[in-house]
Amino acid sequence: MLNRIRQFLLDQHPPSPCLILDRESVRVKYQAFARVLPDSRLFYAIKANPAPELLELLVKLGSSFDCASVPEIDMALAAGATPERISYGNTIKKEADIAAAHARGISLFAIDCREEAEKIARAAPGARVFCRILSECVGAEWPLSRKFGCAPNLAVGVLIEADRLGLDAYGISFHVGSQQPNPDAWDMPLAAVAAIFHELVNHGIRPRMVNLGGGFPAHYLTAIPTLETYGRAINQALWRHFGDHLPETIIEPGRGLVGDAGLIKAEVVLVSRKAEDDPVRWVFLDIGKFGGLIETLDEAIRYPIHTARDGDPTTPCILAGPTCDSADILYEKTPYELPVSLVPGDEVLIEGTGAYTTTYASIAFNGIEPLRSYVI
Ligand SMILES: *Cc1c(COP(=O)(O)O)cnc(C)c1O
Repeated sequence: MLNRIRQFLLDQHPPSPCLILDRESVRVKYQAFARVLPDSRLFYAIKANPAPELLELLVKLGSSFDCASVPEIDMALAAGATPERISYGNTIKKEADIAAAHARGISLFAIDCREEAEKIARAAPGARVFCRILSECVGAEWPLSRKFGCAPNLAVGVLIEADRLGLDAYGISFHVGSQQPNPDAWDMPLAAVAAIFHELVNHGIRPRMVNLGGGFPAHYLTAIPTLETYGRAINQALWRHFGDHLPETIIEPGRGLVGDAGLIKAEVVLVSRKAEDDPVRWVFLDIGKFGGLIETLDEAIRYPIHTARDGDPTTPCILAGPTCDSADILYEKTPYELPVSLVPGDEVLIEGTGAYTTTYASIAFNGIEPLRSYVI
């Protein structure tokens, strides 16, 4: 566990459940990204964790911001980011929201179809746009396929249309899927992007930017390659497909930047069995799917969990949340090994929870308040 968080827990005894986010750890990670991908501008995906203190730190470190809505744009601005450091990266935007972003000085927008290009041409004339292409997201533990992006051959048409509408056909984006364990996952989409650039140039359009998206992993239970490995693989893929004509690049890490910086303190509420001879125990925590752990859907994200009783003998447990919804089960198909000595009241520490937790917590299901968070 991160020492600063350990000390905070010992000193402050915050009420359970809560998330503690360590800014020092984010700073180190930000610098690691800057080291392994020195030529890429980093746009932090705010949706992962929009805590104001975190955004302020990132502004100081020089980060830019990927926003999905006007409220997220306002959070970035409130933290001190200037409009040229903000992109409106959602491909699905109301025209009124595009106009609101334009009024705030935002001039970089994502699109994935002609219809969205038309909206932007009307509401943010002259803006820079990048077209998102579909990505298979093979291997990603939290895929982002199908809903976002268009086929590469359509992207050519979309950017030609954008250009015709007076927009700046700035580039192409893709996302290899969140929690992508394969550093080579950027290679195939980059080959497609290079081909799109080529075609656009043949049409007299000069795209300049490739948005490499997020996908950089956090440390959960399965081992992952180092950030250096990702940086090397991506740089090699860029050289392979663009040679001496390297485009500007953007990365948009969310999980990879803040996931490991957070830890959730929770508590055991109940340990029980459903039958006398049931070998599997049910362990109910004071946090579940509706309290911030929604990424356990389909048991996709498997968080490392620690207790003060680690080292005692373990048996498989079904791990569930506290609410009155039977969907509120974290791990059942693949039960979780937990100490037999575990009892109600025991503290449970859930690692790697800095991303996609507070923003996903419900506001009052069963009267439970949204996940409290402390940024230290
Ligand atoms: C969610 C999202 C990201 C962040 O993805 P991570 O895998 O968390 O790094 C980046 N870009 C876009 C467009 C996104 O929607």
